[in-house]
Amino acid sequence: MEFSSVNDGPRLLSEIASYHAHVYYDRMTTRPVAEELRAMIGERFLVRLGNWHDEKVGPHDQPMFQVSFANDVFATLVPWLMLNHRGLSILVHPNTTNPRRDHLIDPIWIGKPLLVHGEDLPDDHEAEEALVPNTTPTVTA
Ligand code: ZN
Repeated sequence: MEFSSVNDGPRLLSEIASYHAHVYYDRMTTRPVAEELRAMIGERFLVRLGNWHDEKVGPHDQPMFQVSFANDVFATLVPWLMLNHRGLSILVHPNTTNPRRDHLIDPIWIGKPLLVHGEDLPDDHEAEEALVPNTTPTVTA
């Protein structure tokens, strides 16, 4: 699964239905930083801000909240997070039909990489489209 032959040709961008950014924090120390970052994201980007997960959930090794966004938001949101993650670890992964590969093989990390327990994620799944945004950006990034 990890390595595909060049004979298969390159994978197409059309595989990517949307992206997630998972913003990790520590419940006792960096949650306020995550709260500020979340508010700043919401002021600047048309995205779906997910629930707070103060307990570990799914393949994630730390508390986190999810940001779901459309492909055309990537080019502004991801560089902005590079500059403004304030020491937090952020996992940015594509959403294709292979969530296991999306999380374990193909993501990018902003800040320090963390463990991802994705062994049990499906490798054949309907690709998730961007969730309906719940932000109303008013500030230029
Ligand atoms: Zn995700």
